[in-house]
Amino acid sequence: MYETHTHTPLCKHAIGEPEEYAQVASDRGLRGLIVTCHNPMPDGFGSHVRMAPEQLDEYRELVGRARARWAGRLDIRLGIEADYFPGYEAWLERQLTSVDFDYVLGAVHPQLPEFEARYGGGSEFEFQRTYFRLLAEAAETRLFDCLAHPDVIKSVRPAHWQPEAILDDVRRALDRIAPTGVALEINTSGAHKDYPEMNPFPVMLAEARRREIPVVIGSDAHRPERVGALFEQALDLAERAGYQQVSYFLGRKRHAITLDAFREVLRPVQADSTSDSSPSSG
Ligand SMILES: [Zn+2]
Ligand SMILES: [Zn+2]
Repeated sequence: MYETHTHTPLCKHAIGEPEEYAQVASDRGLRGLIVTCHNPMPDGFGSHVRMAPEQLDEYRELVGRARARWAGRLDIRLGIEADYFPGYEAWLERQLTSVDFDYVLGAVHPQLPEFEARYGGGSEFEFQRTYFRLLAEAAETRLFDCLAHPDVIKSVRPAHWQPEAILDDVRRALDRIAPTGVALEINTSGAHKDYPEMNPFPVMLAEARRREIPVVIGSDAHRPERVGALFEQALDLAERAGYQQVSYFLGRKRHAITLDAFREVLRPVQADSTSDSSPSSG
């Protein structure tokens, strides 16, 4: 019963302090909150949407302060959403082992200009195939616990998204992800993006279930009121795909909870906090 994916103002496109996110998590009945802001990257990679390398300590302190203030009421943990981009593996490994993160999300972000510049030269379909190939590569690095929004490519150029056409590539990616033990995120913010559907799409989720790939639910909140958003629907989606439980990570170790136990703790969203226009950047 954790919110597993939330951001801070350090990434320059989120609002609200961790303690405001904590209040919403507590109101929703959750047991904890994992803060997973966008990690620092070298060479100015995507620097407009992430904290600078020298801000990593500030981030730890920000989360540490919130953790101390909420102790005994809500379990606040330090996580990170780390970009996977080929060439930065060694750098990333140093970063991820230098800090005691509870949870490391791995993310392929095809909306970044650096991604577009390296991989955007071919057809739309090739661009999508590259995305799923890199998703599998990300899992195989074993640097991450879970893969964030694992079909976010569909919201980059939604007019070109045809799930049936890409399904063979998706299956091949899942065949490679399954033996790594890395989980997939059911990301509820997909419902508000340009291709309005949670990530991953239902057929991909069913294929993941068939391969016994664990799933973690996260809202990807970039503002406090989105914490825990659409978790009921995400649990239903998991159930329809054949899952009986969802996972979360603490101390980089996976724990699981049944869908019913999760549903039982969830309290309804406050009526005045349902209006939402979340930023579309992941
Ligand atoms: Zn993301
Ligand atoms: Zn973001």
